[in-house]
Amino acid sequence: MAEADIALIGLAVMGQNLILNMNDHGFVVCAYNRTVSKVRDFLDNEAKGTKVVGADSLEDMVSKLKIPRRIVLLVKAGQAVDDFIDKLVPLLEPGDIIIDGGNSEYRDTIRRCKTLKEKKLLFVGSGVSGGEEGARYGPSLMPGGHKEAWPHIKHIFQSISAKVGTGEPCCDWVGDEGAGHFVKMVHNGIEYGDMQLICEAYHLMKEVLCMDQDEMAQTFTDWNKTELDSFLIEIAANIFKYRDSDNKHLLPKIRDCAGQKGTGKWTAISALEYGTPVTLIGEAVFARCLSSLKEERVEASKTLSGPQGAKFSGDKAAFLEDIRQALYASKIISYAQGFMLLREAAKEFSWSLNYGAIALMWRGGCIIRSAFLGKIKEAFDRDSELQSLLLDGFFSKAVQDCQDSWRRVISTGVQQGIPMPCFSTALSFYDGYRHKMLPANLLQALRDYFGAHTYELLSNPGHFVHTNWTGCG
Ligand code: NAP
Repeated sequence: MAEADIALIGLAVMGQNLILNMNDHGFVVCAYNRTVSKVRDFLDNEAKGTKVVGADSLEDMVSKLKIPRRIVLLVKAGQAVDDFIDKLVPLLEPGDIIIDGGNSEYRDTIRRCKTLKEKKLLFVGSGVSGGEEGARYGPSLMPGGHKEAWPHIKHIFQSISAKVGTGEPCCDWVGDEGAGHFVKMVHNGIEYGDMQLICEAYHLMKEVLCMDQDEMAQTFTDWNKTELDSFLIEIAANIFKYRDSDNKHLLPKIRDCAGQKGTGKWTAISALEYGTPVTLIGEAVFARCLSSLKEERVEASKTLSGPQGAKFSGDKAAFLEDIRQALYASKIISYAQGFMLLREAAKEFSWSLNYGAIALMWRGGCIIRSAFLGKIKEAFDRDSELQSLLLDGFFSKAVQDCQDSWRRVISTGVQQGIPMPCFSTALSFYDGYRHKMLPANLLQALRDYFGAHTYELLSNPGHFVHTNWTGCG
């Protein structure tokens, strides 16, 4: 008998929590998993006493679903998604909906949209952010794909998503094809940038200001009451405070090698592909790569020297405030770059993206959630066609207000030999973006000199000429 509102395949951490979240909101969910024994385990343990039903085969699962059937996949991204789609297609009817909530590459989602459209099935690729906790109590959801599916899933998605302000859901329709997964990818890239900025602030506090863990914990707690109010700043404060079983702080004992699963790299690759200067996320990815060369760095530290013992002699409290402002300004640049990439992808794929809605989707539930995203939403409410966040009055003033601090932090850090790839690239981007004239005229001349690549004159744009540079002037 058809009894379930929706099915979910994939009973790992995300799937189990999302099912319990849907159950809490009154939806009957049918659970299924490749390793079928996990269905019974789940029903007997985590889902005990809920309305969740289980299935022992895909056929059984499909037979339990109301029409149009709604099936969420929360399995390992890649081949597992295609394998399940292939098995589901012969069991479904036109108008049924498959939703991929995993971290799939947006190009795979575009491909799957095309294939399933030919089979008259609806496909949604949805970003799901917020990790285990988000999935359980309210994630940020970023659905895209076949828009005809949206009216059938909107109620469920918006009910289970995080809410902000007066109950606005952190979930809205993003756009066609792979738009949802593209937006999720950029979200993850921004998350890389935010984390690296926090790490650079930490490095400056530790090595320039010689602050101890408790002072840093207090500083981050204080910062969380300012424009930097965000989940990542909040958990950083908790990490600084945390003591191990031996009552010593845990953080200094952690090996300084960062891992990565690839979504930051995908964002940087997309930025290169679409010619968008998303420099901060790129540097954040490279900073993780450099960190992972631990043995090589240990060897290099024995021979390569830097500034020696130049102790910071300035006003500590003032410099700490400078670091806060440098972090805030750099963060604005990172989000401006992220939205530039979204704009470029929208152009490339003819997606109609609602940038204000995207900021709202990220405002709560996800890892980059912050008060700051509310300001971005307001900027797009003021001008939905805003070319760059830096051209919005609020953000241009914010960067202007932070500018002196930002430059002081970078020059002090450079003098003291502290690596600050993201702080520095953010400022370089800002300086490049605000320059009417860049030295690219020389670049064009060099290209024309050795390769006859031609150039335009300022006085005649669009008209390309070549000069025989070794001939007479
Ligand atoms: P996961 O470890 O990525 O995947 C485990 C699930 O995938 C299990 O149900 C497993 O089934 C199934 N699976 C693995 N390989 C399979 C294959 N070849 N064929 C069929 N099924 C296969 O689980 P997760 O961490 O819960 O994440 C689920 C999805 O959400 C992933 O795409 C992940 O990237 C994304 N995501 C995760 C997080 C997070 O914080 N963990 C946050 C956002 C998004 P068996 O039990 O049979 O092995």
